[in-house]
Amino acid sequence: MRHGRKAVRGPEGLCAAGTAPAPGARLNSMYFSPPSPVRKIAEADFPCRFGRFRIYGFESGPDGRVEEAVVLKMGEVASGPPPLVRIHSQCLTGDVFHSLRCDCRAQLELALAQIAGERRGLLIYELKEGRGIGLLNKLRAYELQDHGADTVEANEKLGFEADLRNYELPARILEYFGVRRVRLMSNNPDKIQAVERAGIEVAERVPCLVPVLATAEEYLRTKKEKMGHLLEGF
Ligand SMILES: [Zn+2]
Repeated sequence: MRHGRKAVRGPEGLCAAGTAPAPGARLNSMYFSPPSPVRKIAEADFPCRFGRFRIYGFESGPDGRVEEAVVLKMGEVASGPPPLVRIHSQCLTGDVFHSLRCDCRAQLELALAQIAGERRGLLIYELKEGRGIGLLNKLRAYELQDHGADTVEANEKLGFEADLRNYELPARILEYFGVRRVRLMSNNPDKIQAVERAGIEVAERVPCLVPVLATAEEYLRTKKEKMGHLLEGF
């Protein structure tokens, strides 16, 4: 797979929740923390608007620094060709409140529809709001954006890197399901590289392109120009 440049880390705009770091904190250490085993906390039947999934709750990490993720799985994924996988970072404002500042909800729905269409695949929903900076810091970043900063500058003004996520937890979750090769739904070359660094082979990148809303145009332009997202036709 060809990888994009790596000047600025980052997918999913200011949208991705988890434990909000203190303003100004830099969490570089999280990139280097050794992978910790993933623990399945619960599993249940999960019918939703897109089809019938299984829902799983996972956590990893030591006490006090636990990361959590929810997985929606459809079909058999351990055997056969690489399954369709989408790693989505929680965006409360988009996923729940239908925000038009970003395209997270549209991408989430597209991913679920596509997995249901193939009757097979995994959605890994990471509880890492605002690309890891936390919900309230994401709202502070919105405030800065209202005064002219773009999504990357806003994060940096708050003392964060553009994207604090790593992909150890999703990679360990994929391994839990016996998946080592994936067709990854993403527009973000850095994400593909990060997933591969975490030990999962990306056999194919499947674009996750949704209609561009005028209200999200600046945000998407920044993702394309500063974060190298592959947003064809934009
Ligand atoms: Zn969002």
